[in-house]
Formats: sequence, structure tokens, C-alpha cells
Amino acid sequence: MAENEAANDDIARTDAPESADRSVSSRKLVAEARKQARRVERSERRKAVAAAPKRRVGGVRAVGTAIAVCALIAGVAIPAYAATQQGSDVAASATVRDEAAEDAQSFAAGDEAQGADVAATSYSARSATEIAQVAAERIALERAEEERARQAELAEQAQQQQAQESEGSPAAVTPDTSSDQEAAPTEAQNGWINPLGSAGYYISRSLSSGHDGTDMVTTSQADWTVPIYAAKSGTVVVSSEAHYGWGVAVQIDHGDGTTTLYGHMTYGSRQVQAGDYVEQGQIIGYVGSTGRSTAHHLHVEVRVNGQLVEPRSYLPIG
Ligand SMILES: [Zn+2]
Repeated sequence: MAENEAANDDIARTDAPESADRSVSSRKLVAEARKQARRVERSERRKAVAAAPKRRVGGVRAVGTAIAVCALIAGVAIPAYAATQQGSDVAASATVRDEAAEDAQSFAAGDEAQGADVAATSYSARSATEIAQVAAERIALERAEEERARQAELAEQAQQQQAQESEGSPAAVTPDTSSDQEAAPTEAQNGWINPLGSAGYYISRSLSSGHDGTDMVTTSQADWTVPIYAAKSGTVVVSSEAHYGWGVAVQIDHGDGTTTLYGHMTYGSRQVQAGDYVEQGQIIGYVGSTGRSTAHHLHVEVRVNGQLVEPRSYLPIG
């Protein structure tokens, strides 16, 4: 502010009617304006560095500063030039003085407002630089608010999931049937359900030498739309896109000495990962024909204490 007042004094002195050479004084005015512009630019840069804004507004600020500098030079130089053309017209001198003083003062006010340490929303923007700064800060605030809301939502979901998992005895859940899938499996046999639910199928092979399980060939619809449900709750011990001859397969340890294995699923269709706890009836993947398979079908195996058993003795699969 003190600097700007000094500048005003200079301008007033050079515009005195008795001043000898007007072209000299107008050059002086322009030089003074440029000096001031450089000063403003330097202080702008310092402020930009000190503020260290999260978003990159350096380019916008530089453009804003350039505009302010140009406006300052033009505001001082043009009236001064006009004054030189009009010779010793006193009224023109007054105009030069007034205009120059007005410019200097209005810029000083803007400079002061910008320098003050205030929040983004507590003052109104006056220059292009300030408008850009306020906009950037507003965007940053909005982003931060969105991020907070997202984090809160995630935390809530995690909490709900934890609550579900700690419920203890897992009851049979109804898989999502919002799509055009078969209805959820309901028929249980000794605590097991049919891994194909109510989808149509026929059994082509059973447990025998050279075949470790039962093959359930689907008939009702496109195979890759037929979901495979966990026959019982448990922990996923295998979930792989290439599990030996089984191809895409999932194996579940039911925690009671029994395990089930589901093979030949469609690539990329697995819904669970090794280590996941799955509820009975939860979709674990979709029927396919991967691995050693010649037709779309579900190959299911059941083990009791590590020994293969006939799946039809345990699962309600007919
Ligand atoms: Zn098989």
C-alpha cells in the first residue's frame, strides 16, 4: 500500500502543468507502471508458491497476472500519450492524473484483498486471478467432500459385512434372482442343496474308476447363464482359472470333514476367491466346459475326510 501511494505521488508531480517535457513524463509514467507491474507479478509468484494449492492453477494465475499487467500499462500509458498530443491542456493533465491515480488505487485494493489470509468463500473475487483461485478452491473443497462421503459409505459397508460374517450359524441365503436366472435352490438333503438349483440337467456320469465325481449336463438354457451354488457353506480352498483337468474350478471346505469341488466352469465366471467364506446357496461361478471336458456340464465331487464319495449319496441331485 505504501508503495502504491508513492507511485501516486510520482504521477501527480510529473503531471504538474509547469512540467517541462510531457513526452519525458509519459515515458516515466510507462516505466513506472511497468516497474509496478513487475513488482505485482513477483509478489503474485511468491504468493502462488506460498499457497501451494492442491490443484495446479499456476497457468491460470499466470494468465490472470498477465491480463492485470496489460490493463495496468494500458490504463496509464494511453491517457499519458493522449496528454502529450494535446500539448499544455490542463484538463487533459487532470484526466491523466485522475485516471492514473484511479488505476493505481483500484489495483492496490485488489492486491490487498488477495494478500489477506481469508477462506475461499469469505470474500468476493475481483480479478481474473482471484476468480480462478476461488473456483479452484471450491472444486478442491467439493472433491474433498465427495471423498469423505465415499469413505464413510465404504466403512459402513465393511461394518455390515463384518456383522453378517459374525452372525455364526450361516442360514441358507437366497441368491440374487433379479436376472433371468433359475430360481434359488431350496431343496435340501441332510443340509445340502443342489448346486444347480432348479436348472434343468441330466446326469451323464457318476463316480467310477477314472471319474472322480458326477457330471450334470445342463439342458434348460445357455450354459454360461446357469449359476452354480455352494452346496453348503464353508471356506473356499481352491479358486482357479486352470485347476488341472477341472479347468475353471472352485473347491469348498465345509468345516465338517467334507469338501465339494465344482469343475469346468466358464472362464472368468468365478464369483469367489480362495479364503472367502461362502454361504450355502451363494453363487460361486457359472457352468462351462473348460479343462478336460467335451460338453458344457458341471462336474461335482464330494470328499469325506479326504476320501471321494458318490455325490448323489450326499447332494439332492437325483
Ligand atoms: Zn466329470
